[in-house]
Amino acid sequence: MAAPKVAVVGAGVIGLSTALCIVETCPSCSVTVLSDQFSPNTTSDVAAGMLIPHMYPGTPIHVQKQWFKETFTYLFAISNSAEASEAGIHLVSGWQVFKSTPKEELPFWSDAVLGFRPMSEAELQKFPQYQFGQAFTTLKCDCPPYLLWLEKRLKTTGVQMYNRKVSDLWELHSDYDIIVNCTGIGAHQLVGDKKLFPVRGQVLKVYAPWVKNFIRDGDGLTYIYPGIHRVTLGGTREKDNWSLSPDSGTTKDIFDRCCSLEPSLQEAQDIKVKVGLRPSRQRVRLQKEVLSQGGVKLLVVHNYGHGAGGFSVHRGTAKEAARLVGECIGALQGSLSGAKL
Ligand code: FAD
Repeated sequence: MAAPKVAVVGAGVIGLSTALCIVETCPSCSVTVLSDQFSPNTTSDVAAGMLIPHMYPGTPIHVQKQWFKETFTYLFAISNSAEASEAGIHLVSGWQVFKSTPKEELPFWSDAVLGFRPMSEAELQKFPQYQFGQAFTTLKCDCPPYLLWLEKRLKTTGVQMYNRKVSDLWELHSDYDIIVNCTGIGAHQLVGDKKLFPVRGQVLKVYAPWVKNFIRDGDGLTYIYPGIHRVTLGGTREKDNWSLSPDSGTTKDIFDRCCSLEPSLQEAQDIKVKVGLRPSRQRVRLQKEVLSQGGVKLLVVHNYGHGAGGFSVHRGTAKEAARLVGECIGALQGSLSGAKL
């Protein structure tokens, strides 16, 4: 059979990393990325990009842990290479603090990050309103540079990228053998997924180069994540809110909450406000689907619905999506030799 033609729809962290995994596992495939937006205009560009897993209630913990570990290992290798700065990947140490001791003192990912331990009394003195805390080192992606780095890698392997809005996956049927759906919140409209909902997040990106450690309230709502050039201050989680407009009251609230955790942020400068819609679901939709219309079949692999944790698990889910694409190729080859799809 001729080189299988694969279209990846979506150019956020999930689409780009999935396209890269497909190229790596199936070098003979012809891969094209189609997307109505590229960096810097995706949800992925808004994210803080911290590797701290979000929980997907509908996915077994061992699977979530594997996705996280694969992502951590992949990015750790980049952080130890000469590519680190261009890719925007770096290690960051810090604290997750709690007003009362959490039920689970050891989260499932505690052995996947580096040096996880309870905070010492001396460290806790920095946070007088908090009783308990965890210290660890994790990775952070500076999102726009990382997306550009992924795009560059794809281009060097010959992947084509086109600006295009896809209104119906069947549009792609005559040009591609397999469609990979990485459209994030766009899947709500594209494939009518009613289980997918937005969780609006507003963050501030500020200039505060003296802030070197991350600080996260254990409730996940207030956080300070230093990147290479800017510090991300968060945040909000507003379920079913589709608004992409910044809210000035929310900006003040985020700033005040972060200053109460790290008072030196009062001196932060050049505050920029960003809003993104987390593509949320009980579980990531990571599965094959064979669409059928009048006896014609269309092979689709879905990889969307990563909610608040897309960066934390992107490489793991991309690898699984690439494996599913491999199964589709096997089915196509089988169908050419007489087997059913
Ligand atoms: P997107 O980045 O939205 O990409 C979807 C792509 O599909 C886009 O290119 C879009 O243009 C394209 N598309 C959609 N519909 C169509 C269509 N019909 N035709 C063609 N193209 C289409 N995660 C973490 O792990 N750590 C964090 O610290 C973190 N912080 C966050 C902070 C905020 C404020 C927000 C909002 C999110 C955060 N996240 C974080 C979550 C993370 O941003 C998402 O899980 C991740 O970006 C989802 O990536 P995606 O590629 O699926 O979606």
